[in-house]
Amino acid sequence: MLLPATLEEAVTALDKESTEPANEQKTRILAGGQDLLPELKDHLAEPETVVNVKGVAELGTDVRRSGDGFEIGALATIAALARNADVPAVLSEAAASIASPQVRTLATVAGNLCQRPRCWYYRSEHTVCLKKGGDECFAYAGLNKYNAILGGGPSYIVHPSDLAPALVALDAEVVTDRRTIAIGDFFTLPSESDPTRENVLGPDEIIREVAFTVAPGWRSVYVKFKERESFDFALSAVALALRLDGDEIAEARLVLGGVAPTPWRCRSTEELLRGRKIDDALAHEAGEDALGGAEPLEFNGYKIPLTKALIAKALRKLS
Ligand SMILES: Cc1cc2nc3c(=O)[nH]c(=O)nc-3n(C[C@H](O)[C@H](O)[C@H](O)COP(=O)(O)OP(=O)(O)OC[C@H]3O[C@@H](n4cnc5c(N)ncnc54)[C@H](O)[C@@H]3O)c2cc1C
Repeated sequence: MLLPATLEEAVTALDKESTEPANEQKTRILAGGQDLLPELKDHLAEPETVVNVKGVAELGTDVRRSGDGFEIGALATIAALARNADVPAVLSEAAASIASPQVRTLATVAGNLCQRPRCWYYRSEHTVCLKKGGDECFAYAGLNKYNAILGGGPSYIVHPSDLAPALVALDAEVVTDRRTIAIGDFFTLPSESDPTRENVLGPDEIIREVAFTVAPGWRSVYVKFKERESFDFALSAVALALRLDGDEIAEARLVLGGVAPTPWRCRSTEELLRGRKIDDALAHEAGEDALGGAEPLEFNGYKIPLTKALIAKALRKLS
């Protein structure tokens, strides 16, 4: 394991020529270790070098107010975000919904965005599925209760991060050692790029911080449904941000979690919401529109009514 002190040292230690499937990269970044260490223990990843970035001076641990927005250091913990009363509700609520207090105390914001899928075919050391460079997504015709109903194919994973849909609803930017990426361009669908990866980061690229502005008048909420109430990943989740003009919706950002390989932005539903008052009829219409394109697999059709109900709940919470 390497312990670089600067961002330059950390980037230099990473293998920029890597063309292997993501889990076979020779070098891997370690932050809070809440995802990478289980991957190492389960032999899903066997890098030659682990680059521990916890001592890198340029990677902040703060959640900072900056002008009309926030800058969140890559190493800020999820616990720090969950207890921050200033950040928009969608973000602190998403953070508070993640895992257990023990995990939240160690897990970092950048690590949460870059964590690997939870699909049990990916998590089994005995399968070489599409996510690990194989030819097939075994979930498609297999045990797919937790898999995608939107945007799936050829892989049907769902993106596991709760911070991701919240940050998309906030129109955040991901700042790396070399560029700034709109979060809407950060996550990748398996049909559009290398299906072994979930985002556009290069193999030697390091997230420095996540930033967003907060315009006046916006309100937001995160609603998540878990199978196990104590702590669990989302079966479905809704991140909703609205700007209200009186009792009419002037602008909306609606993003689904737990149902697609990326945080799933519902742009046509956002248009439908614009200029309308929140009532039961609108909540119903919004759910129908957002899930209109869903293509459930054999065991995950329940996600459609569940997600419609969560959309209605999120709208009611902001009315
Ligand atoms: C029991 C349990 C329950 C969980 N429940 C939830 C849940 O409900 N919701 C949820 O969202 N998550 C959940 N998680 C996942 C957890 O939140 C993530 O594993 C954690 O946030 C990862 O952050 P980390 O700092 O520990 O990352 P690490 O494990 O250190 O790294 C994770 C990945 O991110 C990469 N990485 C880390 N930092 C950077 C960086 N600065 N730049 C580029 N790449 C980087 C690493 O290379 C690695 O691939 C759960 C985890 C556990 C163990």
